[in-house]
Amino acid sequence: MNSTQGLSNFAKRKNEEKMVEKTIVEGWTEFDQISNLPDLLKEAWNLRRKAFPDFIHFAVPGGRHYDGKNFRNSGQFLNVSITGVSCALQCDHCQGKMLNGMIPSPTPEKLQELGTNLLKKGVTGLLVTGGCNHKGQVPLKPFLSALAYLKSLSFTIHVHTGLADKETAVGLKQAGVDKVFLDMIGDAATIRRVYHLDRKPSDFIETLEILLAENLDVVPHVVLGLNYGKIMGEENLIQTLSDYPLETLVLVALRAVPGTPMGGVSGPNPAEIVRITAQTRLLNPSLKLSFGCARPYTQKAWLERGLIAAGINTLAFPLDETIDFALAWGLEPIMNEMCCGGL
Ligand code: SF4
Repeated sequence: MNSTQGLSNFAKRKNEEKMVEKTIVEGWTEFDQISNLPDLLKEAWNLRRKAFPDFIHFAVPGGRHYDGKNFRNSGQFLNVSITGVSCALQCDHCQGKMLNGMIPSPTPEKLQELGTNLLKKGVTGLLVTGGCNHKGQVPLKPFLSALAYLKSLSFTIHVHTGLADKETAVGLKQAGVDKVFLDMIGDAATIRRVYHLDRKPSDFIETLEILLAENLDVVPHVVLGLNYGKIMGEENLIQTLSDYPLETLVLVALRAVPGTPMGGVSGPNPAEIVRITAQTRLLNPSLKLSFGCARPYTQKAWLERGLIAAGINTLAFPLDETIDFALAWGLEPIMNEMCCGGL
């Protein structure tokens, strides 16, 4: 490159930066829905821009069809339930219905067979999950050697554990799973009312510590508004989690399954979701922050823009216009066929 070309590229880049700044400055006004939200977002956004490169991941795993204007998922990453549609907990927002769309694989032999077949079809990764037993555990123990087999086939494996014990944690480490997803709850009344489980928030923290003690890559998930749409204990929980050596945290917001006791409940107010996400970013400057696929349908586009402004690194299943928004704000979009917690 000669010096004239170098100068013209430099001028072009400066001009692009100015355009991005102008777009962003004009964009803050739309977040003036609750007091101080624009200021909070500006702080969170600036922190994110300083701490991370200029790109954003969009997660579109194959459990749900995605057909955007620039990208379509191909089913390379799928969800498997090791309990079929059974679940002992029958939580008020789900009643096991979320398991319906997953590939049932109720025995270790079936899981191995499934892996062999899916490999031939070009599948590269699996989320292995399922319903819980009465102790709040996804019953993974009989499946540990099948998970090791899947890893030997080079699958990326994410697992949901529920309240795993040490034996399960050791087995998951030996199996070589890539990520361990742990749904956390920070409020005792929510655990009883929604999960029908006689456990305490400290039991969830204890599980986190058991999994971390085995050097597993644990990705906690926090559901905002799990207790019938109300924020109860989530902010304290996020504060507590910031004391742990996590690489990634996933936030989602209640979107109850129709036909369940919470079917008619709307999730938390989108402005509250954005506010808590921005505060999470400010508490955790270098944590990779993902917002998952569960979130309310109300103000969908506004919510997605707010989450980007709040400094997330990954968003699942974006609208086309959200991808355009990220670009206009100077973030290069990267599409990934994988769970958002794995990025
Ligand atoms: S959220 Fe999980 S534990 Fe609760 S009913 Fe659904 S599958 Fe079962």
